[in-house]
Amino acid sequence: MPIQPIQGFSRIGEENAFAVLARATQLASQGKDIINLGIGQPDFPTPQHIVDAAIKALNDGHHGYTPATGIQELREAVADDLGTRYNTDVSSDHIMIMPGGKVTMFAAILMMGEPGTEILYPDPGFPIYRSMIEYTGATPIPIPIREENDFAFSAKETLGLINEKTRLVIINSPANPCGGVTPKEEIDALVKGLEAHPDLAILSDEIYDQMTYDGTEHISLLSYPSIRDRLILLNGWSKTYAMTGWRLGYSLWPEALFNSVRKLAVNAWSCVNAPAQFAALAALTGPQDAVASMMQAFDERRQFVFKELNNLPDISCVKPAGAFYAFPNIAQTGWMAKPLASALLEEASVATIGGPDFGVHGEGYIRISYANSLENIERALQRIDDFLRTRKPDS
Ligand code: PLP
Repeated sequence: MPIQPIQGFSRIGEENAFAVLARATQLASQGKDIINLGIGQPDFPTPQHIVDAAIKALNDGHHGYTPATGIQELREAVADDLGTRYNTDVSSDHIMIMPGGKVTMFAAILMMGEPGTEILYPDPGFPIYRSMIEYTGATPIPIPIREENDFAFSAKETLGLINEKTRLVIINSPANPCGGVTPKEEIDALVKGLEAHPDLAILSDEIYDQMTYDGTEHISLLSYPSIRDRLILLNGWSKTYAMTGWRLGYSLWPEALFNSVRKLAVNAWSCVNAPAQFAALAALTGPQDAVASMMQAFDERRQFVFKELNNLPDISCVKPAGAFYAFPNIAQTGWMAKPLASALLEEASVATIGGPDFGVHGEGYIRISYANSLENIERALQRIDDFLRTRKPDS
């Protein structure tokens, strides 16, 4: 029998978006004109002054290890940025520079999950939450994210899932894959309820915190002093600054957990690569106009996608309030979501992601990423329209 990894590895899941990307790339290499509305990354290049800062760091000789927690200037810049944007005190001592936003969820779930415990996570939600929870042997408990709530989470429903086994609650707003932004009243109610459970840790994934529209306010969990001693805040540069390939992120940790994440870094990745950290510093301290112009472009596409999706036969779509995803309801088309996403890719050359790839509550929906040019989005929606009019589901 071939050698086997320990059992936990058989429970590790995946992000199907990467499989869709691989298939889309393969079809494109065969000459197909694929339009990719599957991938969750900005289609803009990283702003030039950020790229220049990385090049300068290399030319200045920043080739060695940095502290495992990150370079001090960058930790301070992150603390200042969070403190200013959310009008609160943030100590750089609790900031950890991470190799991507994902690594914070990996570390937090690894730290909190074990057999016999439960971890609450959004469903539909980023697939890695569940995958990592299962890896640890903890029981994943989905928090349903519902269309009738405009894809915001419900505080009442979330609090109702907590019991004596619950160790960690994961929330995400603005959210992937639904584009929902949870309003202040709901977050106030959640925090108030969590005050009755002082042993619970909270992971707030705020990677899309600067991506909201129509004046919708993002409420950070950082704004609530009563839970600060057990809040893990996940954020990073990937989305806001179009830096997904740089593998950069950061997190704020409670005092009680900080040494554990620092030690995990020492054991696993030592530090984030040095020039990338200087690029991150330039991103935070330099001009922010590129962020504003990317958001303007996303907003224009969002309006278009929202309007046009609702014109497609048997499809309806809630107006996304944040991130760069729309999550149209396809239940009336007669298609199941994954076969539809697959047929759209193979037969209409449009990559989307089936809702079930984000959890059981994703059936009946597909995710459309509008991180693509308006022209491509228009062509893709035309193809989906033609497809739905002519191609009925396999029986
Ligand atoms: N959290 C959410 C909700 C995401 O959608 C993503 C990326 O798609 C991440 C975290 C991970 O970001 P990163 O690419 O920085 O690891």
